[in-house]
Amino acid sequence: MNIIEQLEQSTAFIKKARPSYGPILDFYQQVFLAQEKSKDDISLPAICMEPDLLNIKMKNEMPLIDQSEFLIDMPVAEQLFEHLCDIASDFAPQLSSNARILKKAANNHTFSLQTLFLAILNNQDSALHDLSKLLNIQEREIVFFGYASIAPSIRICSEHLAQSLSDKPDLKKGYCPICGNLPDFAFFDKDGKRFLKCCFCAHEWLTIRMGCIFCKNKDKENQQYFFSNEEKEYRVNLCDNCHKYIKAVDLRQMNRPFYPKLEQVSTLHLDIKAIEQGYANSGSCTNDVSL
Ligand SMILES: [Zn+2]
Ligand SMILES: [Zn+2]
Repeated sequence: MNIIEQLEQSTAFIKKARPSYGPILDFYQQVFLAQEKSKDDISLPAICMEPDLLNIKMKNEMPLIDQSEFLIDMPVAEQLFEHLCDIASDFAPQLSSNARILKKAANNHTFSLQTLFLAILNNQDSALHDLSKLLNIQEREIVFFGYASIAPSIRICSEHLAQSLSDKPDLKKGYCPICGNLPDFAFFDKDGKRFLKCCFCAHEWLTIRMGCIFCKNKDKENQQYFFSNEEKEYRVNLCDNCHKYIKAVDLRQMNRPFYPKLEQVSTLHLDIKAIEQGYANSGSCTNDVSL
């Protein structure tokens, strides 16, 4: 099964199981589809890691690059930005009017898309704040469209870089071995090994099986989790030491196609429950805006 079939089939399954997510999934399915398709158009040189530098990074348990070093295929990202604005205008009622404003402003050169993309890559909060004021659109919405447009380029770079790690020992950290960002989702594979997914570059890496991935606490009384009988494939791990939580999918309990980003946006009810209980989400949520 290819990735697009995986996306289509898991969307159909989740929509049937949780009809209340129908409108959100209609939107995100189009977004993820547009992102997958745009990957085919991207042409970027591979980011090369010098063997010596790679060894130093591994020895010091450092990520391979800083997120600002990811390369972006600007023409493809600009095209995708426009496409995503059209999708939002058709499928996301709460975003549609701002999506139209953004598309028009980008076409009129009221702002530069390159400036937006680089501000996200370089974490330039003040530039994003200025854009938000200029366009009179909330920063998180601008970041959503901007990040979603560059995500395929970032993913391609992280796939290239992952090849440098393939013959290296797993560090099993709570941060991405490629770019150092935090995970926004976890999953247990068929063998019960725990993997994390980077919130920024979508790299997946093996981590410790037990204990909090954020603060490493392993005390049984501090490590809680909840799940519901109707959705046995999901579990939320809560840490009473650092008060953070992470959602996880257990693939041993799931007999259907798996598309990680989709699981994340169709389990917002679990985030709400964890946040209500006083736990915080650590991985930044660049992937989703609450609709
Ligand atoms: Zn990463
Ligand atoms: Zn913790």
